[in-house]
Amino acid sequence: MSGVCIFCKIIRGEIPSMKIFESEKTYAFLDIGPLSRGHSLIIPKHHGAKLHDIPDDQLSELLAVTKKIALAQGVENYNVLQNNGRIAHQEVDHVHFHLIPKPNETQGLGIEWPTQ
Ligand code: IMP
Repeated sequence: MSGVCIFCKIIRGEIPSMKIFESEKTYAFLDIGPLSRGHSLIIPKHHGAKLHDIPDDQLSELLAVTKKIALAQGVENYNVLQNNGRIAHQEVDHVHFHLIPKPNETQGLGIEWPTQ
């Protein structure tokens, strides 16, 4: 955990988030600036800036959780993105997978997603 990282603060509950999922190793929440309805971020609890900073067991759970959220949202068309480094458009230096449903595809299984 990092004292200054905003995603570590979200995991600790020091910054509010729209939590979707939490386990011992993984945390998932809605993106504050969604590119589409249901845009989610899936992050390891282990702090690391880039993909190669994260232990393999945490990485494999991240993808499994990403898949489960897509299934729970009921989307069939979506992007999964993960940026490393400023030139690659990484803004937050804590590894995160974006799950971005394509517009009008979020059905949900009883989940009410914010419309913003
Ligand atoms: P990046 O460009 O891959 O690093 O993406 C960072 C993402 O984090 C962006 O999509 C932001 O909208 C999102 N973000 C930044 N701060 C927060 C927050 O406090 N809550 C939720 N999402 C955030």
